Amino acid sequence: RGVTLAHLIDARLIAPGHGAVSTTYNDVVHHADVLPDGYVAWDGREFASVSAFSLAVKRKTNPGRKADDGWKCVSYMGTPLDRLKRRYEEESKAGSSRGDGQENLSATETMGPAVAAAAAREIAAKTAAAKLREESRPKPPPRRRGVNRALMMTALPGADGVNGDLQMVECEVYDDDERAQPWRLSATPEASFLMDFHSHLCRHEIIGFLGGTWDPRTKCLTVKRALPARRLVLGAPGENANVEVELDPESVPDIVEALDRDGLRVVGWYHSHPVFSTHPSLRDIENQSNYQRLFRDDEAKGGGTPFVGAIVGPYATTNKDLSSDVRWFHVAP
Ligand SMILES: [Zn+2]
Repeated sequence: RGVTLAHLIDARLIAPGHGAVSTTYNDVVHHADVLPDGYVAWDGREFASVSAFSLAVKRKTNPGRKADDGWKCVSYMGTPLDRLKRRYEEESKAGSSRGDGQENLSATETMGPAVAAAAAREIAAKTAAAKLREESRPKPPPRRRGVNRALMMTALPGADGVNGDLQMVECEVYDDDERAQPWRLSATPEASFLMDFHSHLCRHEIIGFLGGTWDPRTKCLTVKRALPARRLVLGAPGENANVEVELDPESVPDIVEALDRDGLRVVGWYHSHPVFSTHPSLRDIENQSNYQRLFRDDEAKGGGTPFVGAIVGPYATTNKDLSSDVRWFHVAP
């Protein structure tokens, strides 16, 4: 991703403020505000980039204009922005060569508050847009919902690979022709957004529970809430800390109680694989099997619920945009 005004704010090269940036077009100077997350406010609208702002200025008199490079024609307090951007790039290059061995900084520390706020705004806007699309679309017939999302495990390779139980296992997707998915899954935009946002906050793994409902009649599991949980770091510091994650059992009672108050129950768990593939590791599969067994035991008491796992990949280089890659899985009996 490219440099934005949020990066310059975090690097203290510019500061948010009223009328802080300006651009001149056809001899007229247009001033705009820089917001704390680096968005530009002008003429009652807010722009995610300087180029979007300068394009809007030009379109006012020249509506056919297709594109613009705001870095070249917008100034901050009289200094051309491209000069400040170059300084930012030089400083961050110098900074990153100094920063070796600092692998475990959290994303919020390395991102800076303005960049984090801009990312949060972008995710929130996307989620709102997705929700709007969802609401305006005619409801699909209920039996198709979420069918392709749960994944099935078949034979597990032995745990004696080079990476032991941290080895990733490729999931198989349910296929109605080959083997039908045993139950249906749907997730609310709120739950999806929270998992996504929580995962974006850290460069190490995060973990949480999923709350929702199970309808045994329609065989539909609905994930309605995501609840971040505390985690225990396994192993010595620095040693596999990025791939091993286990729940802190002390955070569980609060979560169960919070769900109970809303008439929901625990229906799954989620955790992140910050930059690597969202396939489960052997340890993830073992945890997932244990959870499933726990909830089948519950079935004996007349309340059996499927249990789903979600693996969220916020910073994988293969992601198409800021949204996380999310893989839903369970262990096939
Ligand atoms: Zn994992």
